[in-house]
Amino acid sequence: MNHKLRVLVRLDVDRTAAVLAVNGCFTEINYRALLPIARRACALIGGLSVTVDLTGARHIEGNAIGSLEQALNMMLAGMGTSGKIAVQAPPIPPVCPALALSQRAQEVAA
Ligand SMILES: [Zn+2]
Repeated sequence: MNHKLRVLVRLDVDRTAAVLAVNGCFTEINYRALLPIARRACALIGGLSVTVDLTGARHIEGNAIGSLEQALNMMLAGMGTSGKIAVQAPPIPPVCPALALSQRAQEVAA
């Protein structure tokens, strides 16, 4: 299964806030790809207001959010900044459409 992570980085023109908008598959493996992007965003705006927005993700895997939050906190501690990165997530993590499609194909074939 190819879970592709897509991220759009939005920076305020005055460099006071950054949003990492995720709109692909967010998994327990590919969440790590967000870390260098988040680090860059923090460095660009002084770590003031960075948000990882997962509300547009089409798939969120079980513990990926918790793993991301833990890794972000460790990253911030390592950078020595007092800032915090907010993670916005939908109340119910969406199931991968590709997975749902392949299950439906198996049901049809059976
Ligand atoms: Zn997926």
